[in-house]
Amino acid sequence: MLLYCNCESCKKPFSLKQKANSRISLEMKFGKEIRVHCKHCAKDQMKHVNDIRAEVNNTTVIIAFGLSAMLTFFLWSRYGAISTVSAAIPFVAFTQQSKRVNSFNKIMARR
Ligand SMILES: [Zn+2]
Repeated sequence: MLLYCNCESCKKPFSLKQKANSRISLEMKFGKEIRVHCKHCAKDQMKHVNDIRAEVNNTTVIIAFGLSAMLTFFLWSRYGAISTVSAAIPFVAFTQQSKRVNSFNKIMARR
């Protein structure tokens, strides 16, 4: 899961270094206002936790897909068709992430 917000000056979205599973835990860790740094225009700004959005981290899903492809290939020689079960790993990873993303974006902190 990736956290991102839109820059105030250049309006481009950029990802945050901070990691959290929910908006509430983000607020508990870093406070209501979070200092963020835009990668595009190098401007520091303060963002309210409600302005921060989550999205599925495609890199993690691609890595999971690559790993499961290798695992399936490796297990195929030993166990045959049953090894295709490991091909489900990226789908499970994607489903879990999109659930977390949905709950992050749904639950707002109090202003
Ligand atoms: Zn910017």
